[in-house]
Amino acid sequence: MSVDRSTIWPYENGEPGTYYYSRYANPTVVEAEQALGALDGGHALLFPSGTGAATALVLGLLQPGDTIALAEGCYFGTGVNFRTFERWGLRTVEFDQTGPPPEDVQLVWLEAPSNPFLTMPDLEAAAAHPAPVVVDATASTPVHLRPLEHGADYVLHSATKYLAGHHDALLGVVVCKDEAAATALRTFRTVTGIVAAPDPAFLLLRGLKTLEVRVQRQTASAAVIVERLRGHPAVETVRWPGFGGLLSFDVADGDAARRVETGTRVIVNATSLGGVTSVMESRARWEGDRVPAGLLRLSVGLEDPEALWADLASALH
Ligand code: PLP
Repeated sequence: MSVDRSTIWPYENGEPGTYYYSRYANPTVVEAEQALGALDGGHALLFPSGTGAATALVLGLLQPGDTIALAEGCYFGTGVNFRTFERWGLRTVEFDQTGPPPEDVQLVWLEAPSNPFLTMPDLEAAAAHPAPVVVDATASTPVHLRPLEHGADYVLHSATKYLAGHHDALLGVVVCKDEAAATALRTFRTVTGIVAAPDPAFLLLRGLKTLEVRVQRQTASAAVIVERLRGHPAVETVRWPGFGGLLSFDVADGDAARRVETGTRVIVNATSLGGVTSVMESRARWEGDRVPAGLLRLSVGLEDPEALWADLASALH
């Protein structure tokens, strides 16, 4: 494992070899893709961000006039991204992913679990739909869910989150069930130039070495915190799918949420999720009235869970 920052490699006997120009392929990126493909049981392609991965997948698969069925309550930025494609004739309709997707759509987009509502999709109902099914499994990670084994055609991760895991690399990945689909997407990626750089790919490779222990610890700590939040008088709803380090809960209103998010010392008041450091924020600042004003999203890191709870409990006072 080393970083190869070259953009060119010499031709071999006057002909391009495996590597010749890094928009086509880079050895560090390929090494990361092999590791990711093994984790999800498919053919992985790396992209410069989770959002870039979604853009490439949608534009690579669909054409003007097509409709995406998007899971209601999923990551806010995914809907924002897809709505920008309306200008190019792509429609998005939202649906409740705990039931079957609507008919007459050309792509089904699920999130397992949704961020920040933490619902799980009905994968069986989606797999029965004739359209290709994408599962954004960013918050599950392959440690807890391998959607290709449940009938999905593509898995997407913001690798920025748990996979890289240290809040220092921006990356996305699409894992394809079908090799021909991966080849088509790779060609689309090369010609459109939506390619990942080797340095973040190296950080991702390093992060993957500890993925399982990190995620197991985050799940165990989240379980402790969820149980205590559920018994706390200042907390209304607590959302957690029963695994993973991502959870959300509601306090009385926007003012209360602001007091809590700015009142912690161990938990950092910042966006994003999935890193070694715990982060928490009120989501209404980004998502407006799509979320309750008092909703706080917490990504549990690797700190001592007792220290995390003491921090949270003091901020909830
Ligand atoms: N999918 C989910 C579930 C996310 O939480 C995010 C980012 O928060 C993304 C996709 C987008 O990923 P990125 O920020 O790497 O573009």
